[in-house]
Amino acid sequence: MQELTHFINGAHVKGTSGRFTEIFNPATGEVQAKVPLATVEELNDAVAKAAEAQKVWGATNPQRRARVMMKFGALINEHMDELAELVSREHGKTLPDGRGDVQRGLEVVEVCMGAPHMLKGEFTDDGGPGIDLYSMRQPLGVVAGITPFNFPAMIPLWKMAPALVAGNAMILKPSERCPSTSLRLAELITEAGLPAGVLQVINGDKEVVDAILDNETVQAVGFVGSTPIAQYIYGRAATNGKRAQCFGGAKNHMIIMPDADLDKAADALVGAGYGAAGERCMAISVAVPVGAETADALIEKLVPRIEKLKVGPYTAGEDVDYGPVITAAAKARINGLVTKGVEQGATLVMDGRDFSLQGYEDGFFVGPSLFDNVTPDMDIYKEEIFGPVLSTVRAGSYEEALELVIDNPYGNGTAIYTADGDTARDFAHRVNVGMVGINFPIPVPLSYHTFGGWKKSAFGDLNQYGPDAFRFYTKTKTVTARWFSGIKEGGEFNFKAMD
Ligand code: NAD
Repeated sequence: MQELTHFINGAHVKGTSGRFTEIFNPATGEVQAKVPLATVEELNDAVAKAAEAQKVWGATNPQRRARVMMKFGALINEHMDELAELVSREHGKTLPDGRGDVQRGLEVVEVCMGAPHMLKGEFTDDGGPGIDLYSMRQPLGVVAGITPFNFPAMIPLWKMAPALVAGNAMILKPSERCPSTSLRLAELITEAGLPAGVLQVINGDKEVVDAILDNETVQAVGFVGSTPIAQYIYGRAATNGKRAQCFGGAKNHMIIMPDADLDKAADALVGAGYGAAGERCMAISVAVPVGAETADALIEKLVPRIEKLKVGPYTAGEDVDYGPVITAAAKARINGLVTKGVEQGATLVMDGRDFSLQGYEDGFFVGPSLFDNVTPDMDIYKEEIFGPVLSTVRAGSYEEALELVIDNPYGNGTAIYTADGDTARDFAHRVNVGMVGINFPIPVPLSYHTFGGWKKSAFGDLNQYGPDAFRFYTKTKTVTARWFSGIKEGGEFNFKAMD
């Protein structure tokens, strides 16, 4: 069995703890590798080495740091298929979805190629007599990224690219269920010219996460994962004086107005509800049709589309719609929630619990389930299912639908399908959710905007990637300068290159 490593000071390093966790092939249920779980000592040692490496990296001019991003981007493109396969092998998502995972991370690397522009400070000429003010953005030092299983390429890239190009060193702690992509990305960025020690990939579980949170050298923590862990990490990081931005779970609603194009809405719901087996923080898990007629017509359009979904391993070809869920425990939990939904009175229109795939009977496949007549007091509504289950909550009016979204404790993404610009505009303005789609089901903003939810979907005050990432990963220093009279001639006028 393959034994994975950490990636420290530019090289693969075996774990010393003797503790491992198994990595499954979710399609077959077989163990395909084991990953070491780092100790506190291993973490502290990696941080100390990162702090040394950061001194040189932080003093390297921004344009040179950006050139590493340019080469890194080129290498990611060159290795796109290999990286996508690595994602799919451990996560189980389809190959086109695996490529999407890499692509949406690459786009953040592309924005980081323009980092010198983002890192420029501000300047006030003659703020007082002979006085100028200027501000600089300086790196924090050593920062950490802690990432979830569901986007093994994209989210580590969201964390590492802005942090590194801003001049920090990073401790990246990927999900222990899908760590191989992060290890490969570390190899590629090293090949692109990142000095050894500036990116340290440390594998592990709660023990190493707590060690990161308690390490005094680590200045900031960027976390993505479930809400209870996000809140815990935010609290412990803040207590220890660190900056933290912690993104959590979701329950994303799509409102379908009576004037919506129902074919387009149904297509969107199937993709956003069942794509990646529902294991996306921006998945639509609740459909909210407005009016009984809209609801009946929508369900009628959804059923044949869901029946056509092809569920299978990523190796079965590009026309597979979605793959297995991540673990046997996730499968059991999802099926258990579907059973609870039935017990609590929801109408199970399509039942995915007994799904089995010939030749892959031990894989973690879950068939698609569709619920109608779901109410907010049911567990299937209250919990983030994170599986291929779509719940329909019928609303009597637009206001009732909007209230439902507003009252939900999560606020990651939401969407509205309508032909009316005024309704769409009102929705975008009033809804208390971080990312809004108008006739667009999964509104993950492009990489030069920012990504972040509201309410229990995010703890902290700055979003991921885009301009916010540069604010999060730098400290502002503002200088007020006055120069007394001096020699105004005799300067040096020959042109010098910056580097
Ligand atoms: P998770 O919270 O179980 O794990 C995330 C990270 O936290 C992992 O690296 C894990 O090792 C670590 N961790 C787990 N338990 C811990 C503990 N008790 N103490 C300290 N660290 C711990 O999340 P997951 O199952 O890997 O990912 C799925 C979740 O992530 C979903 O809730 C999903 O909505 C969310 N997510 C959110 C976003 C977003 O940007 N808001 C994006 C993707 C995924």
